Amino acid sequence: MTDVAIIGLGCAAYTAAVYTARYKLDTLVIGEEEGGMGMTAVEVGNWPGDIDVTGPDLMERYKNHALSFDNVTHKVGRVEKVEQTDDGFRLTMQSGDTEEARTIIFATGSNKRHLDVPGEKEFSGKGVTYCATCDAFFYRGKDVAVIGGGDSAVEGAAIAAQVANKVYLVHRRNEFRAEPYWVDKVNEKENVEFVLERNLVEVLGDGKVTAIKLDKEWNGSDEIKVDGVFIEVGSIPAVDLPKQLGCEMDERGHLKVDDAMKTNITGVFAAGDVTSASNHFAQFATAAGEGSVAANTVFAYLQAGEGHGGAMG
Ligand code: NAP
Repeated sequence: MTDVAIIGLGCAAYTAAVYTARYKLDTLVIGEEEGGMGMTAVEVGNWPGDIDVTGPDLMERYKNHALSFDNVTHKVGRVEKVEQTDDGFRLTMQSGDTEEARTIIFATGSNKRHLDVPGEKEFSGKGVTYCATCDAFFYRGKDVAVIGGGDSAVEGAAIAAQVANKVYLVHRRNEFRAEPYWVDKVNEKENVEFVLERNLVEVLGDGKVTAIKLDKEWNGSDEIKVDGVFIEVGSIPAVDLPKQLGCEMDERGHLKVDDAMKTNITGVFAAGDVTSASNHFAQFATAAGEGSVAANTVFAYLQAGEGHGGAMG
């Protein structure tokens, strides 16, 4: 039985692992997708100490750091089931393999939100994708639409504009919630058109995407011809596994934690985008901070020899 199973392979998970390793806890880091959402950041720009670094570079460094400790084990695979046992928790993998741990840190991150408009599912992978920064380079010389007004959409539009012929940035309001840094970047691009106060209502196509349909006319039409649509309307916390243990969520559906990153279930902790912490501000810096706090709390919990299982009193 390992001291702590950290579920997730992103920034919060690997930061927690660096700390639990140095606390001399036997640590298992386990997850399905290496790097998590951080892999999509082409330009990070706000990781202190690194002016010019990409998400994939940072993720590689976090992982190498965590795995440099002999007491850290790394496994890639989908965890299907989590249940309490007499002395901790059992994880069951999709493969049928099981792992036992005294404590758990959920660092399961989040998944991209879908709009569920007609045509979205039909053309998913045929012009509709959920990561502008990952997929823009397949649209060299083409016309694309990016939907959303947060950092993912505005950064995505700025990156897409480097290769695409034309980028339509479609946002439901006339203000962006993205960092002004990214808004300035996108404003500098001559091939970005702002389509504001409009919603995407349908993706049109014929085998592949040919146009988007808006809820209101823009430049005399409610359709814009495009070859690709990047839907960047935020993400939904990945809480299926914590729910299996009876963990509580907050009003926004994030895994509820206290200041020490404890959930309501004894022996269960959490860090990163999945949690209600850090004012829901999903950043490398907040994920790392939460991961370190969760690890420190696990250390204190195991040192105190606290009991296992059940809701916290
Ligand atoms: P986000 O900040 O939640 O923004 C989602 C955007 O989608 C908002 O503009 C929102 O509109 C819009 N939206 C949501 N639901 C919609 C709907 N049903 N129809 C139309 N529009 C909808 O998500 P994000 O941009 O993916 O960013 C997530 C987190 O990652 C943030 O903390 C962000 O700072 C971070 N991030 C950072 C970087 C970076 O620093 N390099 C890059 C990417 C992401 P409203 O504005 O009207 O609510």
